[in-house]
Amino acid sequence: MRAALLSLSLLPLPALAGPAAMPQPDSPASRMPGGILTQTSAQTGLDQWIVAFRPRALAAGIAPATLDLAFQGIRYNDSVIEKDRNQAEFTRTIWDYLDSAVSDLRVENGTAALRQHRRTLDRLEAVYGVPAEVVTAIWGLESSYGANRGDIPVIESLATLAHDGRRGPFFEAQLIDALRILQSGDVVPEAFTGSWAGAMGHTQFIPSSFHSFAVDFDGDGRRDIWSDDPTDALASTAAYLAKSGWQPGLPWGIEVTLPPGFDYGLSGKGVATPIADWAALGVTRADGSALPDIGSAELLLPAGARGAAFLITANFRAIERYNAADAYVIAVGHLSDRLAGGPPIQAAWPREDRALTGEERRELQQRLTAAGFDTKGVDGKIGPNTLAALRAFQRSIGMVPDGYASLDILKRLR
Ligand code: CA
Repeated sequence: MRAALLSLSLLPLPALAGPAAMPQPDSPASRMPGGILTQTSAQTGLDQWIVAFRPRALAAGIAPATLDLAFQGIRYNDSVIEKDRNQAEFTRTIWDYLDSAVSDLRVENGTAALRQHRRTLDRLEAVYGVPAEVVTAIWGLESSYGANRGDIPVIESLATLAHDGRRGPFFEAQLIDALRILQSGDVVPEAFTGSWAGAMGHTQFIPSSFHSFAVDFDGDGRRDIWSDDPTDALASTAAYLAKSGWQPGLPWGIEVTLPPGFDYGLSGKGVATPIADWAALGVTRADGSALPDIGSAELLLPAGARGAAFLITANFRAIERYNAADAYVIAVGHLSDRLAGGPPIQAAWPREDRALTGEERRELQQRLTAAGFDTKGVDGKIGPNTLAALRAFQRSIGMVPDGYASLDILKRLR
């Protein structure tokens, strides 16, 4: 899915707000910021790349006739490269992301989509064990319930990205998988479209995910995730989650309230703690009621001690396989709760904060390490080592050790 594509960005844009699926006007490559190539030489480069690629595709089992058909009239798509360049350093706060990912409009449209496709979704739940609301929430985030499926020819976007080379091997592998899809007859060339990076259909499968998880649920002999009828796409998504370890009957997570004096050192992904232990520490549901028995759970604080707190389960991890960003998983989970009639997130967010830029995150790591709190590398990603260093630094100056990488912390280190 998008997980692999978006691994460089902290938070992906939700489909509704994202330009990925919008048609882009043609613009010469020579006018791109920092662009050197003219459209003509870029096209020549792509044509030469396709010639060199052909033997590799043949060796991978793609028939000559499929290749001839697939690459007919393929042009260099500079809008795809532009999107790829703009992707890397994109960052947003969790609350900004959730505001659009789980907007009132998306809840409203999701309620309507759920009602319209209830029979199909109930059948999917019976077969795969994934709730209708969860499948619908992914549909809502990936394509606004089918409204933004993407209309860029898949072979064109993937060939352009594979030729470009920034993530060449990844996109070449996706291109081979895309050619296999064409060869299998699941889709006709005219309908073989997607978003800028080759994510396709109602729930934005990349070609390799299609091969692993797509199903022909309506039984017409084709795994059709592109058509107006979302049945196969929704079934494929349910199959994806089921194969990723979805456990029926378990929530993705629950919003909780932490008691005064709570030890924030217990937060963070990594150690699942029995629900009875959380309850014994004074943790309750956000509405103050007792925690439900959901086995064991990890405590996630996406905005540190001043934002919402969630106990997350194995099903959080299943959604994570779809897209690894915490914000995405929380958005899917929360949207599914809202579609099931649940309330908005109860806690307030520290809205006066802004997200650190990639450069600031790297500076934070450098400064932590220089101050004796080793982040074990400077990559701009707040992983377990940076989290541990942040906590140690917070403790050393008497702050709540929530490990949240805020601007305030960076300022204190400067
Ligand atoms: Ca079908």
